[in-house]
Amino acid sequence: MERIKCLIIGSGPAGYTAGIYAARANLKPVLYEGNQPGGQLTTTSTVENFPGYPNGINGYDMMNDMRAQAEKFGVDMRHGLITSVDFSHRPFSLTIDGTTQIEADTVIIATGAAAKYLGLDDEKKYSGRGVSACATCDGFFYRKKTVAVVGGGDTACEEASYLSTLAAKVYLVVRKPFLRASDIMQKRVLENPKIEVLFEHNTLGLFGEPKIQGMHVVEKAGSPQERRYDIAIDGFFLAIGHKPMSDVFKEYINTDAEGYIITEGSGPCTNIPGIYAAGDVADPRYRQAITAAASGCKAAIEAEKYLASFE
Ligand code: NDP
Repeated sequence: MERIKCLIIGSGPAGYTAGIYAARANLKPVLYEGNQPGGQLTTTSTVENFPGYPNGINGYDMMNDMRAQAEKFGVDMRHGLITSVDFSHRPFSLTIDGTTQIEADTVIIATGAAAKYLGLDDEKKYSGRGVSACATCDGFFYRKKTVAVVGGGDTACEEASYLSTLAAKVYLVVRKPFLRASDIMQKRVLENPKIEVLFEHNTLGLFGEPKIQGMHVVEKAGSPQERRYDIAIDGFFLAIGHKPMSDVFKEYINTDAEGYIITEGSGPCTNIPGIYAAGDVADPRYRQAITAAASGCKAAIEAEKYLASFE
C-alpha cells in the first residue's frame, strides 16, 4: 500500500499553501484536489482583498497561480475524493473514491465549507451574474445599486450592514417574524435607514436578462394574508449559513455542533496528533482566502515538527 508522509486534502488557499510549505520542507506532499479544484474562490469573480494584487485578480486565476506555485515545489496533485478514513491507528488509512487505499503519516484537512443556497434553479442560472454568497467578496460591484440579502442570523445582518455602506438600498429577506442575530446586530440593522427588513418573506425566484433585475417573493406563505409580489434588485446575496465539509472525518475528529473541526487555540492541531485542519473547514468566523492560506502554512509547519519528533 502506498505510504504518504504528508497528505493534504483540499485545494483551496489552505490546501495549496500547506502544499507549498510541506514541499519546501521536503515532506513530499500528496494533495487530493476534490470535486472543485481551486475551491470556492474559483466561483468568485474578482478578488480585491488579497494582499499583493493592487489591481485585483480573478479568483480562478489566483487559484491557478497558487496551484502552479505548489506544483513548482513538487506537490503531487491528484484527483479524487476521500470517501472513508480510519484514524484509529498510525499510519492513518484513507480510501480514495471508494476503491484505492493509502496510508499517511500526517494528514492536513483543508476541505473547506460550502455556502448554503436556497435550492432555487435561478440561483444556478444567475451564478456569477448577480447571485453571491459573499458580500465582502462581491459587494463592491453593487455601489449605489439595490441588493437583497437572505437570512436572519449574524452573518446576514453583518452582510446587510456591510452592503449598506456601498449599495443605495438593501432588502433583508427573513423567513421568520424575527431575527435570530445577536441583539447588537439586530439593532444595527433595524436602525439602518438603508436596510428594509422583510419579515416572513421567502424568495420564489429571480428574473431579468442578462443580469438579475428583480426577485419574486411571497409574504406570509400559506396564510390567509399570503401576498406574492416582485421587488427590483441588482444583486442577490445568500447568508443562510455554511456547511463545513467534515462529514467523512467526524467519527474520529472533534467537530462543533455545526460540523466545524475544533482545533487547539487559533492553531491547526486537531484532537489527533498528526492530523491538522486548515481553512474554512475549521473556521466559522473569518472565512477569508488570506486566513485560510495562513492556517495552511501553520498546518504544514506543525506536520513537519510532528514528523521530525520521530527522527
Ligand atoms: P445562522 O445559522 O445563525 O443563521 C442562518 C439564518 O438563515 C437564520 O436566520 C435562518 O432562519 C436563515 N435560513 C436558513 N435556511 C434558510 C432558508 N432555506 N430560507 C430562508 N432563510 C434560511 O447562520 P450565520 O451564518 O448567520 O451564523 C453562523 C454562526 O456564526 C452563528 O453562531 C453566528 O452567531 C456566528 N456569527 C457571528 C458573527 C459575529 O459575532 N460577528 C458574525 C457572523 C456569524 P431561521 O432563523 O428561520 O432558522
